[in-house]
Amino acid sequence: MKSSDLFTQAKTLIPGGVSSPVRAIKPYPFYVESAAGSRLATVDGTDLIDCCLGYGPLILGHAHPEIREAIDRQLEKGWLYGTPSPLEIDLARIVTGDHPGIDMVRFVSSGSEATMAAIRLARGYTGRQDIIKVEGGFHGAHDAVLVKAGSGATTLGVPDSAGVIADLVAHTRQVPYNDLDALETVLSDNDDVAAFILEPIMGNIGPVLPDDGYLAAVREITAAHDVLLILDEVITGYRIGIGGAEVHYGVRPDIATFGKIIGGGLPIGAFAGRRDIMELIAPAGPVYQAGTFNGNPASLAAGVATLRYLHDHPEIYRRLDDATRAIEEVAVDARRGSFVKMGSLFKHFFRDSAPRNYREVKECDAEAFSRFWKAMLDRGIFLPPSQFETNFLSTAHSKQDIEEVADAYGSCLFA
Ligand SMILES: *Cc1c(COP(=O)(O)O)cnc(C)c1O
Repeated sequence: MKSSDLFTQAKTLIPGGVSSPVRAIKPYPFYVESAAGSRLATVDGTDLIDCCLGYGPLILGHAHPEIREAIDRQLEKGWLYGTPSPLEIDLARIVTGDHPGIDMVRFVSSGSEATMAAIRLARGYTGRQDIIKVEGGFHGAHDAVLVKAGSGATTLGVPDSAGVIADLVAHTRQVPYNDLDALETVLSDNDDVAAFILEPIMGNIGPVLPDDGYLAAVREITAAHDVLLILDEVITGYRIGIGGAEVHYGVRPDIATFGKIIGGGLPIGAFAGRRDIMELIAPAGPVYQAGTFNGNPASLAAGVATLRYLHDHPEIYRRLDDATRAIEEVAVDARRGSFVKMGSLFKHFFRDSAPRNYREVKECDAEAFSRFWKAMLDRGIFLPPSQFETNFLSTAHSKQDIEEVADAYGSCLFA
């Protein structure tokens, strides 16, 4: 059956026809038959170079043989125990070993759960109620972080979704990214702030990169006000290098959240931090967190295999950086827009200069992006279907794949 027919059926059974909003490509999304390496094969018989990669987890590409083998081996031994498995110690040891600021980890099933628990933990540790997030920053789809952009730090948060009651976001304040004055002001004016949560690189509207010294200053300011810093490394963890943003930018969080790559493409999340903070988590302490699928063996097996592979092949980060540079070299000559990259994250923004925050991203010409996106798809390249999502590359993208992507950028940007 063709994608259009499948979507017609799906719309009668699944709201909007999709299981997550960003997948609602117009007029209908393509359905995937199978995936391997850098490629998606659709049910319509098209073969696409995938620069979406499940929105980030698949740094080694689809169905990587070593990861598959690790999952297969685990499946033979069962895939849910409801009791501890040795794998959780293996993954915890790798994650804590790679992040100097982190002593302990709790594994959950998604990045959303990880940030939800991290915020609860920050409130439990400090006994304070408010959190600060970055305007346009994404931390999953739970109530406390679904706050309308534009609700500034000085006003109470306004819900960004029907069904989120005002009381639940009233304690969420927002500051623009790359704006230290705004952060300093809101912290000086409020003594009930538990934590500042941010994506070190804004990965869900960009990539929007931190100004030089921004993250170090954020660390200093939050420490000076005795406020916890939660680094949401769900995208950046193992994506910009081993040790993520913590190591790359030399900024030590009190709590960090992970997901995506650390599960090797299977569902996972984790929150982690200093021992004195993490020991407040139940059953060690009074902050409750629990889950049937926490630390599920299949995800842990895929995660351990992926992180071991990254440790064994540290050169891949430079190779991925070279690959996005090859695309950049084509894109920088485009008449309009600005190309932004950070390792294997990249994006062409339809705006004259690279955006520094959410408001500037919103100034992009979304219609020009849509035309570009469609032209790329017609050339066999699948990019995330929004101006406001990051593109990704994987180690499975061959030299020839990169050349194809760069060529397509050339012709589609200059069209
Ligand atoms: C993807 C993402 C999340 C949410 O993770 P899920 O596994 O989709 O729940 C949280 N924070 C950031 C920065 C993300 O990119």
